[in-house]
Amino acid sequence: MEDRILEAIKNRVDTRVWKKWFSSFYVKDVSEKEAVFVVSNLFIKDWLEKKYRKVIENAIKDVVGKRLSFRIEYSEVDQPVEEIAPKITPPEDTNLNPNMNFSNFVVGKGNEQVYKFAKKVTKELGRFSPLFVHGGVGVGKTHILHAIGNEAYSKNPNLKIVYVTSERFMNEMINALRENRIQEFKKKYRSVDLLLMDDVQFLMGKNGVQFELFNTFNELMDRKKQMVFCSDRSPDKLQDFQDRLISRFKMGIVTEMEVPDVETRKKIARKIAKSEGGKLKEEILDFLAENVDGSLRELRGAIIKLIAYQEIENKTLDLYEAIGIVGNLLKDNTKKMDPSEKLLATLSLIFDVSPSEIKGKSKRTSAILARQIGMYFAKKYLKLSTNSIAEIFNRSPSVVSSTVKKATQKIGKNPLLEGYLRKVLSHMSPAIGKEI
Ligand code: ADP
Ligand code: MG
Repeated sequence: MEDRILEAIKNRVDTRVWKKWFSSFYVKDVSEKEAVFVVSNLFIKDWLEKKYRKVIENAIKDVVGKRLSFRIEYSEVDQPVEEIAPKITPPEDTNLNPNMNFSNFVVGKGNEQVYKFAKKVTKELGRFSPLFVHGGVGVGKTHILHAIGNEAYSKNPNLKIVYVTSERFMNEMINALRENRIQEFKKKYRSVDLLLMDDVQFLMGKNGVQFELFNTFNELMDRKKQMVFCSDRSPDKLQDFQDRLISRFKMGIVTEMEVPDVETRKKIARKIAKSEGGKLKEEILDFLAENVDGSLRELRGAIIKLIAYQEIENKTLDLYEAIGIVGNLLKDNTKKMDPSEKLLATLSLIFDVSPSEIKGKSKRTSAILARQIGMYFAKKYLKLSTNSIAEIFNRSPSVVSSTVKKATQKIGKNPLLEGYLRKVLSHMSPAIGKEI
């Protein structure tokens, strides 16, 4: 009977609706008098009661043969919410970004501990307040803050949740003071259930705002509300900060977030590409995850740039071309990447020929040009020996010598060649560590 009721509901709604709203919906009990359902998400419960009452009633009637009243119970036992919850957009005044949630947060070495604390705190709001997360730029702090807010909202849309950077908090306060609305401002922050404050280090030396935050903190603490703070440094390292505020930051859970390890970064790269709606070759994503300097923001920047490039040019980039385009974002290029490898990548991009064509026998003008400019550049700027250049370009040393000689004579007289050379220079400059 239980299954048949669900089946009857499924037949009455379209697949999208079924998946979105009924995936965590079960029949608990059907008696003479009523049917009881269970759902593991409060928001969905409300929604079903409002919008799908008729559908559910009719489905019951189909199966049971008569009208029964029904109710829906909320229970969080069975499934983790983020796996079944539809993507719910919290209201704008929460400032929450629905795109940063737990389901698209990749957990791995470096961020695992913070993730676990964040989940725990979200589950039992107010019990472990405050949670203080610190770590360098682009490690995922802001993402975690939004994830906590989004999940808390999807479990209980009646909560008052605010995400705010400490800078914005300050600006709002200043405006409120100016416009005689300070009471309103105080009330706004002192009445929340969940306060998510980002980048508190911005308040260093800003005594007046610290004072207001201190009062807000105490009020929320008294009311057993949850606070989460993020900072680029630990509480103890906050300079020009009131001691009493620092000691309050430390009275909950203080935890550090680190740059995730390479394997995790590879997964993150894939998530980012997916959420930006673009496909990049696997080898590019891996390469970026391995080589982009520290911050995940730069990883994201590189991925977005490549996706945009692919769409503009309407082609699928290969690894060499990708390196040519985002080379400047790569970490310490001089050590990490062999300049000759980078040179081939750059030539490939600028002249639109593959590295193997450059090294091979192709007589296409663009391949010939790429070799000329490339050898000249390798000699003059990379200061490579004729023998190593010969190896890079798969030519004999004597061919290299004569090509470099010819190029030297032509460049300076030929604006086209000079233009190409300038392009190569600008692409290569991070790799050779030289400003031009
Ligand atoms: P922070 O606030 O520490 O400077 P962010 O939270 O802004 O870092 O993270 C930078 C970018 O990397 C964001 O686009 C974020 O969504 C993404 N990101 C960070 N950590 C992860 C992760 N573990 N999984 C998926 N994306 C992540
Ligand atoms: Mg941040």
